[in-house]
Amino acid sequence: MVESFEINRIKSRPHLVDLQRTFMPVNLISELTSKCNLRCTYCPKGDLNKDAWNGAPGRDMHMEDTALGRYLDLVRTLEFGQIQLSGVGEFSFRQDWVEVGKQIRDQTRSKITLVSNFARIFSKEELDFLLSLFHIMVSIDTSDADLLKKVRKAVDIRTITTNIINLRARALATGRAMPLIKINATIYAENLRHIHELACFAASVGVHIFQLARVGGLSEANEFPHPITMASAEDAAEALRQMDLARVVCANVRMQYTEVGDLRSELVRLSQPALGQAA
Ligand code: SF4
Repeated sequence: MVESFEINRIKSRPHLVDLQRTFMPVNLISELTSKCNLRCTYCPKGDLNKDAWNGAPGRDMHMEDTALGRYLDLVRTLEFGQIQLSGVGEFSFRQDWVEVGKQIRDQTRSKITLVSNFARIFSKEELDFLLSLFHIMVSIDTSDADLLKKVRKAVDIRTITTNIINLRARALATGRAMPLIKINATIYAENLRHIHELACFAASVGVHIFQLARVGGLSEANEFPHPITMASAEDAAEALRQMDLARVVCANVRMQYTEVGDLRSELVRLSQPALGQAA
């Protein structure tokens, strides 16, 4: 956080401007709340009593008014490529999220993005705010309603689907463009065989981008779900096959297909015994 008097001091001393530019972050990720309405089993927020991380100051609270005021000074003063309205936590869990979101949006020329779980039905006012964003990433790991509920607890896939459809309907009703909608699927051992079906689900609800990534920081000691390193070679080989099918589904409906990080290389490594047997 850069305080406003610091920004003014830098502005009034031109020899510091280059330094300001040099160290200027390209994008800004903003944790306007660290509270979340969900308790996903692979997230540090899954069990607030589980580890010390949750006990650290600020790990389960909305950004306080004083800090929010300074934050607004920052986004008013500096321009970023993108401002993401979420860190770990669910921005829409703040009662005043639309009001705060509009304040940020109206004070910057930066593109505004959001990661949200879409786990409750949004009102028209909320949909209108969402329509003003550049990009929204929604996390769905599987289109299997039972597995989704087991991993992400309070999530119902029907709620996510309804929100996406309502957003599209609201865009049509108000003559506005849809923001880019990305479905992000975090991959673990138990959903490796769900990738193709999930891509078909994403295609049928008309999102723009389908992204696959490993669940970050998931330990082998986690009760459920398990990291892909615990998957069988057959499951890893099947996941690779399904990723290729998902790519074809995406191409057919002109939806962008993206893999993030080392998901594919790790699956290739894990599948070697199975590929060896097949040969
Ligand atoms: S929705 Fe996101 S922040 Fe909330 S518990 Fe799940 S993974 Fe964590």
